[in-house]
Amino acid sequence: MNNKIENASPDAKRELEIPKLILAGMPDYFIAREGKEAWKDDSHPVYLMMNLDTKCSCNCIKCALHGRKREPGPPLTTQERTAFLDQNTATLGLKELVIIGYGEPTEDFGKVEPLIREAHSQGMGTVIFSNLGFLTKEQAEFFRDHEVTLIVSLDAVDENTYNFLIDPNKRKGMDLNKVLKNLELLKETYRQNNKTINEQKVVRLGINTTVCKQNVDHLEEIKQLVGRDMMYIANPPMREGNLTQKDRWNILVGNQYDYLAKRAAEVSQTGGHSSLAEGSCSYFNRGLSVDSDGELLTCGYAVNTAHSIGNIKDNLSPQQLKNIYRKNREVFEKYRQETGDEQATCPLRSKNFEDYCRRIASAHSKRQKENPFNILE
Ligand code: SF4
Ligand code: SF4
Repeated sequence: MNNKIENASPDAKRELEIPKLILAGMPDYFIAREGKEAWKDDSHPVYLMMNLDTKCSCNCIKCALHGRKREPGPPLTTQERTAFLDQNTATLGLKELVIIGYGEPTEDFGKVEPLIREAHSQGMGTVIFSNLGFLTKEQAEFFRDHEVTLIVSLDAVDENTYNFLIDPNKRKGMDLNKVLKNLELLKETYRQNNKTINEQKVVRLGINTTVCKQNVDHLEEIKQLVGRDMMYIANPPMREGNLTQKDRWNILVGNQYDYLAKRAAEVSQTGGHSSLAEGSCSYFNRGLSVDSDGELLTCGYAVNTAHSIGNIKDNLSPQQLKNIYRKNREVFEKYRQETGDEQATCPLRSKNFEDYCRRIASAHSKRQKENPFNILE
């Protein structure tokens, strides 16, 4: 290591070290793999976010699943989900499946496994988020062998804060030591799997922290865990699920949202959300999202946009899906220009989110008239 690197701070060290890290499945990865021009072609969706009916026995204060405003209808079957991938992956040009909005994949592995397998057979990678609570060696090997980018949700490395955030009264079988042990198992399993593209080291593991009052002064300690085989991502909380309750919001955020968001952007190695590109989260702005019952959403968390766009059970053609994708992008572009909210990287975290939902509903007004559900109730 040269002197300049040796004397630098941990963050500066990461910047100076070659090769630079990129996280597989993220915009930088596709740019490295296929070139800038290919990424600039925004005429088709790259990401497919799918919420599964995956259970989770924790009850984190921040959880977007618990306390969700929408109770989905009967879930799609595994066969319906895999058939959707089979029919649309190549025609739409989808590159990455994203399973992050709903439940815990290591606890309900049987639900995610066939979908990941199908995505892999279609040439797609999969991004999943997990708390690692129930990870086994077999699962880790399966994820590694099926191009899974696994982002570990970890908000604390001291037991008191960890237990407080995850709600010790409801959790079953979760404890920080077990999670840290599983993290080592995951790192070890993936270690030989990293490759290099154009002098950039491609990694398939990340840690994601939701920044809150309780951990904002300890982000560097959590970040230490990533080393050179993982990427560190940090996000501010969003008012979904449990955090729609004022008392819970006040526990984690209160009036400190701007500060927490600033710290998240500072420490995150992507500069913000995992898939940040051109000033927005690409999971939604370059993708399509499907809720567990087939309802199309603008992203896996945006339950307020259900019942206004469409449902994949209606056998939407690839062209109809492409039109929906384009319309969603147009709405977001216009929304940013007209609200002056040019910095809105994530509509759900924008103060004008209700305005955005109204615009989505009105852009797809034909469908909304067919369905009396009021998206903003
Ligand atoms: S682990 Fe994830 S899905 Fe489970 S309660 Fe916590 S935030 Fe929700
Ligand atoms: S749009 Fe926001 S809430 Fe949705 S996936 Fe992206 S960062 Fe998450």
